[in-house]
Amino acid sequence: MTQPIPIDQVTGSSLIDAYLGNPRAVAGLRHAVAANQVGHAYLITGPDQIGKRTLALAFAQMLQCQQRGDGGRSACGVCVHCRKVAHGTHPDVVTMSLPKDKQSYSIEQVRTLITEASLKPTEGSRRIFLVPDFELMTLPATQASLKVLEEPPPTAMILLTSVSTDLLLPTIRSRCQEVPLSPVAPADLAAGLVRQGLADQAEALEVAQLAGGLPGWAIVALTRPEELAERRALLNRLNALARASRAERITQAATFAADKASAQQTLALWLPWWRDVVLAAHGEGAIVRFTADRPTIEAQARACGAVAAEAFVRALIRAMRELDQNANPRLVFDVLLLELPG
Ligand SMILES: [Zn+2]
Repeated sequence: MTQPIPIDQVTGSSLIDAYLGNPRAVAGLRHAVAANQVGHAYLITGPDQIGKRTLALAFAQMLQCQQRGDGGRSACGVCVHCRKVAHGTHPDVVTMSLPKDKQSYSIEQVRTLITEASLKPTEGSRRIFLVPDFELMTLPATQASLKVLEEPPPTAMILLTSVSTDLLLPTIRSRCQEVPLSPVAPADLAAGLVRQGLADQAEALEVAQLAGGLPGWAIVALTRPEELAERRALLNRLNALARASRAERITQAATFAADKASAQQTLALWLPWWRDVVLAAHGEGAIVRFTADRPTIEAQARACGAVAAEAFVRALIRAMRELDQNANPRLVFDVLLLELPG
């Protein structure tokens, strides 16, 4: 289950102004609000901790705000509606959550949503329903939601989030406007963290390099230094593998691929590192992402050379794709680690 981004840490201005990354997606939503061309259903997609739920709430805040600024393109952040949305207490912004001890949304929850969507807004201009991780709907629940997604009551709108459109029925996608989010470049993420006053320059760079492009992870890591230390330790373990024997690599594969999520996290961290090794191998060490590790990266580049480094980047990308397609994480890592240049 996605770990929600601590909204309180990114308020102060409006949620949309504080939003980190994906400027095109943000601009599209701002434009829709300003031009009064808001759709009735949206599907925000992207990996865990990219900021899907935060963007949905920022959008809801803009829509409920009673004193929008910037030509209607921003929420004020201070009116009663803005504050209630930011604190999760706005009666017309309803977030669906998984029932206790359940792994999926039920058809009863969808029926409740349909009933609630037919009610008039109590305070705001419309009723907004946020359904995070829509892929966790059971099939009957999904089918029950089709009608309300296609034609919600005029005062209702529905915001869905999902890690991947591949996990959803095409009939869901066709009923929504899609807002795909992509990982944020470390320099942009670091600049955003500094701008929000969440970190100083050095701290922001360190976190951004380890965040794998995920603002949510970066914000959480800033409040929990042990996460940062863990990721740093993981990177060190991964890089030590280059000196390990084949047998040791096979043994280690199991520890990196305990489950799909940890395997994906590992690859999200390792891929940018190896992109850096490729850059360094081509004499471009000045533009590596992991600036603090430049000497290590350049030594690795000298040891393996550009051809082997590029081949391993391709192997990492292939491994990511295989995990997306639900290949066995352990097998994926067994093969991957054997391809690691020694
Ligand atoms: Zn406001």
